[in-house]
Amino acid sequence: MLSDFISYWNNFPKHRARVLAPSHLEELPEITNNCREIIARGNGRSYGDASLNDVIISTLKLKDPFIIDEENGVMVAGSGLLISEVLDFLIPKGYFLPVVPGTKYITLGGAVAADIHGKNHYHSSSLGAYILSLDVFDGEKVVTCNKDHHSKLFYETIGGMGLTGIILKVSIVLLKISSAFFNVTSNKTTNFSVLLESFEKNKNLGYQAAWLDIASHKSGKINAIYTYGNFANLEELDVNKMAESFTKSKEGHWSIPMVMPNFTLNKWLLKVFNFAYFYLHQPKSRIVHLKKFLFPLDGIKNWNRLYGSNGFLQYQFVIPTARFAETVELIFSEINKSKEKVYLAVLKRLGPTHNNAVMSFPLDGYTLALDFKKTKEVFILMDRLDVMVVNAGGRIYLAKDARMSAEIFSKSYLKTVSKNPKFASLLSKRLGLN
Ligand SMILES: Cc1cc2nc3c(=O)[nH]c(=O)nc-3n(C[C@H](O)[C@H](O)[C@H](O)COP(=O)(O)OP(=O)(O)OC[C@H]3O[C@@H](n4cnc5c(N)ncnc54)[C@H](O)[C@@H]3O)c2cc1C
Repeated sequence: MLSDFISYWNNFPKHRARVLAPSHLEELPEITNNCREIIARGNGRSYGDASLNDVIISTLKLKDPFIIDEENGVMVAGSGLLISEVLDFLIPKGYFLPVVPGTKYITLGGAVAADIHGKNHYHSSSLGAYILSLDVFDGEKVVTCNKDHHSKLFYETIGGMGLTGIILKVSIVLLKISSAFFNVTSNKTTNFSVLLESFEKNKNLGYQAAWLDIASHKSGKINAIYTYGNFANLEELDVNKMAESFTKSKEGHWSIPMVMPNFTLNKWLLKVFNFAYFYLHQPKSRIVHLKKFLFPLDGIKNWNRLYGSNGFLQYQFVIPTARFAETVELIFSEINKSKEKVYLAVLKRLGPTHNNAVMSFPLDGYTLALDFKKTKEVFILMDRLDVMVVNAGGRIYLAKDARMSAEIFSKSYLKTVSKNPKFASLLSKRLGLN
């Protein structure tokens, strides 16, 4: 196949690469022998260069059928399946994945490689805590690994960003659910301490997140909408919803039809949107389909096109709880002193990670994801934020990173995966992992 420019969800960076899409694992040894280096690509929903290299192996055709052991709540599935496909299979059976990210359009392999976290991380940990075993192609052969056999490979592959090999099959413990609906409550505040109190009050149960308007920040004050939800019991559903209590839900059909001009999103539009979103929001409790609550951004297809052809950057960091409030005040002030604008900001509470994944992102603390347009100046701003994050004992999420330095990485990720010369990405080279 010819080389083409490939990028990820945020359209930066773009790299000329050959993408090979094997449909049988028998094809992998030959591909590997013919290439100096390769890296797996799932559905390209990371924000950066984690799966960019000259030769990329797309896993989207590696869709081994699902095997589900309903009695024990365990599923075995191919790594190229999308979370959306997995959920459409599981929900009607009354099962769910114990950890899901903010979009259902990622692959199972990409989810394991990033050791994804969800809005329930504080009490439910990251996906790695539920993996029973993995089949991994290490460049020569397929190895089945778990916590007892080939455990080094197992814990380096979970959160290993594709650097140990290609995940082919995943065996995972499922979550039994009471319905496909969520009971959701939202409220708004202008007081940051009050917002953090809500997170602390609800951290042991359910799913929670907050939207923030960073430009509204003034020492301790910020416009925020906090949302908390959990699976609804059948008694909480009305008759209509009960009839469809384990259904898939209809998708939203909004779509951004093309890459918009780079000026489409601008500070005036942002100001009006944030003002209206905050002031028109009515605090309320409601029952909604789980997909509306857990994957709200999926309601608008291709929303990344709003940022134009220049693309955008997401800056996602975690800071331990004890240092979070003071550090984030400095971070908000630093951003607002600059000319850069945050187009979307989402705050989540993370807890301890209950698996031994070597390069996993979560720490017991708060994680904030900030979307910026890609400008020359934003890189300089992010370099300054990196120092604040690392000095507070925090770190940057690799699945969202396109620009961190090797020095910042080595100060914040104290353990790294073993080198496998066959697997490398622009990210691994930038961070000094190869
Ligand atoms: C709107 C949105 C919301 C998000 N919300 C969250 C969130 O709440 N929590 C969270 O944790 N993440 C979140 N993410 C990030 C996303 O979950 C991760 O980037 C995930 O890894 C993307 O999976 P993918 O299949 O698209 O993989 P890609 O983006 O293609 O690849 C990501 C990494 O996984 C590796 N990889 C992919 N497949 C395999 C395989 N089969 N074997 C070995 N390595 C593989 C790649 O080499 C690369 O390093 C979000 C992303 C978006 C776009």
